[in-house]
Amino acid sequence: MATIEDIKETALIPFQKHRQLSMHEAEVITLEIIGLLCDSECKDEKTLKYLGRFLTPDMYQDLVDERNLNKRCGYPLCGKSPERIRDPFSMNDTAKKFLLENNPYAYLSHYCSKFHFRCSQFYQVQLSDEALFARTGVHLFEDPEQDKHDIDFKVTLFEELLREKASEEDIKSLISGLKKLGLNPDSGTTEKDDTELEDDLSKWLAQIKIVENDNPSILGDFTRED
Ligand code: ZN
Repeated sequence: MATIEDIKETALIPFQKHRQLSMHEAEVITLEIIGLLCDSECKDEKTLKYLGRFLTPDMYQDLVDERNLNKRCGYPLCGKSPERIRDPFSMNDTAKKFLLENNPYAYLSHYCSKFHFRCSQFYQVQLSDEALFARTGVHLFEDPEQDKHDIDFKVTLFEELLREKASEEDIKSLISGLKKLGLNPDSGTTEKDDTELEDDLSKWLAQIKIVENDNPSILGDFTRED
């Protein structure tokens, strides 16, 4: 399992002498991070949150894809396999394609559960589009602007929201970017138009609201495929 220290040792140590990364150096860091996490997982939430300062949504998608190739749940905090891979029925390619295009649970080919599909979407929409080489100093162990990086590239995990019982407003503002993501055909969902997606999101919010009611058993229901 990978820790922040592992990320520093594997990907960042060679670049500690300068604040400005070249495009090539940024690429090397990206590849090292994906290499580290495509066949392992983050040891804790802190590590996944720290990773946010190096990832763009596209890079994150590459990581999810690589993890899937290694038969791992796309969510980098998870050590399980996607649900569909554990399916004992083998399928030919046509059947697989049909299932992916027509099955509302297509995300199960990429994630172990609906819960981790949501956690992953939620993480991805918060990532900055800014290229890594433009994020001056984020890779340094000691940087005068460390506090600024913490704010600029802060990512809140869905698990944290559940624990903190965030208000509906907090959640709404955080997921406003999800629309964009849901339209991405690579994200593991079937393609949706805006209305369907809004509908999907409001159902999701309703589920979260139930969690807010301080009923611990609902979390079990929530993590299950519905
Ligand atoms: Zn998972």
